[in-house]
Amino acid sequence: MGTTGAVETHPGKSLASGCDFRALADEAWAMMEELFPICRSITGDGVRRTLALIGARIPLQVTEVPSGTQVFDWEVPLEWNVREAWIADDEGRRIVDLHDHTLHLMSYSVPVDTTLTLEELRPHLHSLPEHPDWIPYRTSYYREDWGFCLPDRTLQSLRPGRYRVRIDSTLEPGSLTYGECYLPGAVSDEFLIFTHVCHPSLCNDNLTGIALATLLAARLREVDRRLSYRFVFAPGTIGSITWLARNEGEVHRIRHGLVLGLLGDRGPLTYKRSRRGNAPIDRIAGVVLPAIDASARLIDFSPYGYDERQLCSPGFDLPIGRLTRTPNNEYPQYHTSADDFSLIDRGALAQSLEACMVLLSAAERNATYVNLNPKCEPRLGKRGLFRPVGGAHPGEFEHALLWVLSLSDGHHDLVSIAERSRLRFDVLADAANALHEVGLLRPAAAPAGERNPT
Ligand code: ZN
Repeated sequence: MGTTGAVETHPGKSLASGCDFRALADEAWAMMEELFPICRSITGDGVRRTLALIGARIPLQVTEVPSGTQVFDWEVPLEWNVREAWIADDEGRRIVDLHDHTLHLMSYSVPVDTTLTLEELRPHLHSLPEHPDWIPYRTSYYREDWGFCLPDRTLQSLRPGRYRVRIDSTLEPGSLTYGECYLPGAVSDEFLIFTHVCHPSLCNDNLTGIALATLLAARLREVDRRLSYRFVFAPGTIGSITWLARNEGEVHRIRHGLVLGLLGDRGPLTYKRSRRGNAPIDRIAGVVLPAIDASARLIDFSPYGYDERQLCSPGFDLPIGRLTRTPNNEYPQYHTSADDFSLIDRGALAQSLEACMVLLSAAERNATYVNLNPKCEPRLGKRGLFRPVGGAHPGEFEHALLWVLSLSDGHHDLVSIAERSRLRFDVLADAANALHEVGLLRPAAAPAGERNPT
């Protein structure tokens, strides 16, 4: 699959053109409704059922990695599955029941079948006194424990007495499951999209990421691609660590990447730069996102957050940024039952999808050219590129033609021309296409930052 990368074709049109983002947001919403009830964790049948629903929409290769497999400093954990979990009072009334909400059980709770006093039960109950109607999200992946999560209002209403506790779960050797959708392009250079699939009934985190990544892959399947695309749907942290451990020899193909999640709330778009800080995707985000959302924020890398923690760890340092709206921990509903459909806005979902599409499209269309007529301006009018009326103020497209000709010296890619001219990236890419077609430009090497393996 190695290519020289000297001269590459790139699609003439933006990936975003012709997309009805509102209709796609409705599609994402419907997919999220299907995924919402599933009891997901970092391993187990919830992840498999989730991947099956993704695989019904896009081609997905599912990998099972056995428990106990060493992955860098970690180990693939035992597989966890649960059939039922509840607490009943001494009259047999169910106080909490996993069947009512997947957040009621702390993820990775060990099996329990016992009767306890309220005093004995109390350390195993988790609530949010500041939001008495919300159920918190708790996990105990790497310590043997059990617990239930419930609204503080319910917890406060419990009377002293004896409580029957039953957790019918299994923690046993099995596997960690992840899915990949690979879409080959004209070159083997890859754009990686990573999203986590380990959270139970929570909408913004992580169903928006799962749904939007699936729709992006579905869209990319329909178009000519210059870059190759790899979508990875895996549990957070241990999933990206496992994927990296198994693909260490392949990650040199990754030229761009995005970690997706938290894309449906009403906050502004937030792009978190890669650890490098100046990767092509960081520069692309800087030129395209403010045009989509005037209040878009670009923030610097920090070793905290989602799977960029692993993908950008110093031993990999991949050119991967993260797109969210309001970042993790910065909204009160985060990791609680209030992260449900009421938190999600269809317009925000549509805008997030547009942002993803435009980021991918700019990576797809970015190129460096050489002006073949660099001594004085070429006559654009006789080539049909400049409007014939003299004296009129040139429009955006004409400005773009002039900027592309001026900076196409084999060293400036279209992103750097957008940075300097402040013109829209897609207008510059359209101008470059037009100039290329009439023979005034030739592609130089691969875009700055992209180097193909030979
Ligand atoms: Zn989370």
